[in-house]
Amino acid sequence: MKIGIPRAGLYYLYFPFWKKFFDELGVEVVVSPKTDKQIMDIGLSTANGEACLPIKIFYGHVNWLRANGANIFLFPQMDIMTNSLKKLGEKSFFCPYFVGMSDVMRAEYPEIEIISPKMAMDDKTIDPESWLELADKFGKNKAEVKSAFEKAQAEHVSFIARMQAEQLMPVEIIDGIKINSSSKDKIAIIGHPYLTYDFHASLNIIGKMIKNGYFVRTMEMITESEKAEAVESLFLQPHNHWFLTNEERMALMAVAKDKDVKGIIYLTPFNCGPDFLMETFVLKDVRKLKPITTISIDEASGEAGLATRIEAFIDVLK
Ligand code: SF4
Repeated sequence: MKIGIPRAGLYYLYFPFWKKFFDELGVEVVVSPKTDKQIMDIGLSTANGEACLPIKIFYGHVNWLRANGANIFLFPQMDIMTNSLKKLGEKSFFCPYFVGMSDVMRAEYPEIEIISPKMAMDDKTIDPESWLELADKFGKNKAEVKSAFEKAQAEHVSFIARMQAEQLMPVEIIDGIKINSSSKDKIAIIGHPYLTYDFHASLNIIGKMIKNGYFVRTMEMITESEKAEAVESLFLQPHNHWFLTNEERMALMAVAKDKDVKGIIYLTPFNCGPDFLMETFVLKDVRKLKPITTISIDEASGEAGLATRIEAFIDVLK
């Protein structure tokens, strides 16, 4: 039995939890490789043309796994997120693409077996109920699955704590590699993790900024205290329905207030629905505090255009 997990979508937020859970149960996990031209092309040819680029890429990874031996797929059912920062509102949600992903995949690929336990979170605590229901599926008793879940939950908390305390990107912890520089000059790249850390789709904007001599801060490195302070500065409609949009808004405001950050790149998929009001709800305020540029990425984005944008932005920062 091999559980297929696409290296796409919410992989860079929750893979350590998922991996630990299945490792503890003795179930093999197969992960698709990093996005490359072939995976991207498969995604572009199989996903609905109106979907955003990250969803098209997700299809590319699913099809790689279908062709490479995964026989059960993990497509978690993304559910309610509650937040202790009450000013953000009690509940927020992932984009409908992720909420509906398991059902869409069942309809797209009826021949594949799918498990879709619920990812509902109260801050960093994941609701165990639907994970414990997987006991029979893997031939384990409730106590064994409960133990696996608790270890996975602890792994998730530790993953978040390390990103914040050690200023590491999720990709650095998951892949066990050092990417960032040790420069004192910092720049922030804030965006959805499935674009920020997909170095093919994002045209490796992180690597380009590191090569230009910057230490890069990303959304997952923002500390709890920075978030708590930032949320007080979200002047207009602190609550937003969308979980990742709220995370981006707090991160943007936090790095705007970080005196070591010279400038901010807001990285966004071209036709993202939930992010369409970012200008109104945060960017106009951030712009008063710090230089910021928005880079919108789609499948037609090219190296030459991005290099020109980056050079122009770095000139502004000097
Ligand atoms: S939040 Fe935006 S980028 Fe993310 S899946 Fe939804 S539409 Fe795509």
